[in-house]
Amino acid sequence: MGSLGGDELSQWDVQSNAHEEKILVSVRLRPLNEREIEKNDVSDWECINNTTIIYKNSVSERSMFPTAYTFDRVFGCDSSTKQVYAEGAKEVALSAVNGINSTIFAYGQTSSGKTYTMSGITEHAVADLFDYIHMHNDREFVLKFSAIEIYNEAVKDLLSPDSGPLRLLDDPERGTIVEKLTEEILTDWNHLKELLSFCEAQRQIGETSLNETSSRSHQILRLTVESCGHEFLGSESSSTLSASVNFVDLAGSERATQTLSAGTRLKEGCHINRSLLTLGTVIRKLSKGRNGHIPYRDSKLTRILQNSLGGNARTAIICTMSPARSFVEQSRNTLLFASCAKQVSTNAQVNL
Ligand code: ADP
Ligand code: MG
Repeated sequence: MGSLGGDELSQWDVQSNAHEEKILVSVRLRPLNEREIEKNDVSDWECINNTTIIYKNSVSERSMFPTAYTFDRVFGCDSSTKQVYAEGAKEVALSAVNGINSTIFAYGQTSSGKTYTMSGITEHAVADLFDYIHMHNDREFVLKFSAIEIYNEAVKDLLSPDSGPLRLLDDPERGTIVEKLTEEILTDWNHLKELLSFCEAQRQIGETSLNETSSRSHQILRLTVESCGHEFLGSESSSTLSASVNFVDLAGSERATQTLSAGTRLKEGCHINRSLLTLGTVIRKLSKGRNGHIPYRDSKLTRILQNSLGGNARTAIICTMSPARSFVEQSRNTLLFASCAKQVSTNAQVNL
């Protein structure tokens, strides 16, 4: 598991002022899978350098679509999750040790690699957080873990699955909070692995197949880092910090679009996912500036993550896509979402 060297760690020193920055947006292309190869599907996308992905099939290209897309980082089909973490998520995820809230999203159509990418990123980030804590004996740290699933606009506590849907409350200071959410204090790495498999098992109960559930639901794993300094008594500077990092595995992005390829239009009622649709609307509106009404309150997901969408948290989005020709329409939708997200600014600030 990746760890940080001493020099690298020093860069996470507490920053005291809020500063505006853009959402960090990356795209990860997965390899063609066996099913796609069996159907003689071909790979139409290529990362030509660290930041640009191109559509290679010029024959069928219609002029209304761009052929090249540029982001903060793009990762080709031979990239490792460790690399995606290091260059597309690490800096944002580790802000929590400095008291800055952060969120990492995985966005993409079903089977594009969201869960594969996000579960690896979560493990690398937690390993780095434990390393950081062990190297900083001047402060006392507590790591807390919680997990929710949003399914059909109902919020489920994955650590207490029988407790029924959770309510969202508006707190004047902390924003939207999830009422009665279970928090476990993490003792070590193995404890995290146990909790992750417990959560994974909860997501499958009562569903016909795992893919069906995960394509419709959003999972948010939240790690809260609390720390307290050992400064001498009477010190005027506040020495306690608390911030969370959210790892968000979104529902399949095909659930935010009205039409699939010709002939496969599904009934809107069962197909469209309200939280995902609202996420797209919020990102689109924010990409044009903060003027006017931003409909955060229209869905559970955008309410819970409002701070990470143009608010005071640092945010990274990893968009995953299949390279297959048959998915070109969904891949373009994903890149369009990524392009909008790239325009959005957040105002990261220390959470004292
Ligand atoms: P999603 O969560 O977007 O529906 P998954 O993460 O479950 O997709 O990925 C679908 C399948 O593709 C899984 O079997 C996964 O192991 C595989 N896969 C996804 N991304 C990659 C990748 N970058 N390299 C190799 N296999 C991948
Ligand atoms: Mg998944």
